[in-house]
Amino acid sequence: MKRFIDCLIPFTTCNLQCDYCYIIHSKCWGQTLPVFRYDADRIGHALSINRLGGISLINICGDGETLLPPETVGIIHSILKNGHYVMLVTNGTVTKRFTEIAELPVDCLNRLLIKFSFHYLELKRKDWFNVFFDNVQTVRNAGCSISLELTPSDEMIPHIEDAISLCKKRTGAICHVTVARDEKNNLLPLLTHHSRTEYENIWNKFQSDLFDFKMKVFGEKRREYCYAGLWTGVLNLTTGEFRQCYRGDLLRNIFEDIESPIQFVPIGCRCAEPYCYNAHAFMTLGIVPSIRTPRFSEMRNRLCDDGSEWLTPDMKTFLNRKLIDDNIELSWIEKKLYEIGRLVKTSRMIHKSKSLLSHMYHKTIIP
Ligand code: SF4
Repeated sequence: MKRFIDCLIPFTTCNLQCDYCYIIHSKCWGQTLPVFRYDADRIGHALSINRLGGISLINICGDGETLLPPETVGIIHSILKNGHYVMLVTNGTVTKRFTEIAELPVDCLNRLLIKFSFHYLELKRKDWFNVFFDNVQTVRNAGCSISLELTPSDEMIPHIEDAISLCKKRTGAICHVTVARDEKNNLLPLLTHHSRTEYENIWNKFQSDLFDFKMKVFGEKRREYCYAGLWTGVLNLTTGEFRQCYRGDLLRNIFEDIESPIQFVPIGCRCAEPYCYNAHAFMTLGIVPSIRTPRFSEMRNRLCDDGSEWLTPDMKTFLNRKLIDDNIELSWIEKKLYEIGRLVKTSRMIHKSKSLLSHMYHKTIIP
């Protein structure tokens, strides 16, 4: 695994309205679909194996429902054709798209993991449990890997036993559990009225490695050397803007000139987040090599009652890898050189803005 690229589709339209959703909290509910500036073919070429330096793991996630835009399946196919492994986050309800996915070539589907967010309360309110689980079964039968995760909420607590037995009955195993954070607060605390200990005791019932690891590192400010920006990146799939991490530097637009190489630059010890809230992916893939973690496959896989697993053998082997297996850690001097490069770039930008300001000042004062 050469790189992990987290691709985001910024739009806020969804066919569900979950209480814990940050879109609902920020009252920015949308009605429109995103506009992709570049087509699927170009996106595929921009993310070629040559440009990324090797076979990589690509995650695709919308702020709203990822499978509402008609372009999403074509983009997934275009990336899979390169030979990469792809993960897709979805609420599992847009049946038409799962039919389209199931029609992709089998060798592509073998490298596709569909992460179903199990929004129990909304599915119950809409009477859509069958729609959801039938779609899970469709892609599983077609040869995809699957993983189900539930977002904890206080309103969900009375339904825990039902969610566990339903998931077991329909997929052969219990869903994983993520951790909900309060996006209205800059420190991103837990989204609950319970204490941390109570929260852990309540949601431990799912025996989810994903939940256990997320809680283990929850709220811990990362100060170690992080290879985000060099081994990983965050990509806006509608524009091509490529960042080191969610709050890292903007490196460049990688869809504009797809023939030129991508300059990857590590974030180092400058993580701007209060804590690594997607540590279950970034950290288990080894973005901070000095910290020992479980493997990413453990965050996603489940062993089913019939002996089968949610991940295909190929996907499991790939997600068992760490980024360090296909990358080399930087020496002290290389880290310093990246740091100097960043300082030079910053001082050039300051100089440029100073000249611009002085130019504007003189134009205003001296007519
Ligand atoms: S520690 Fe996590 S959030 Fe911070 S820069 Fe690294 S990957 Fe990004």
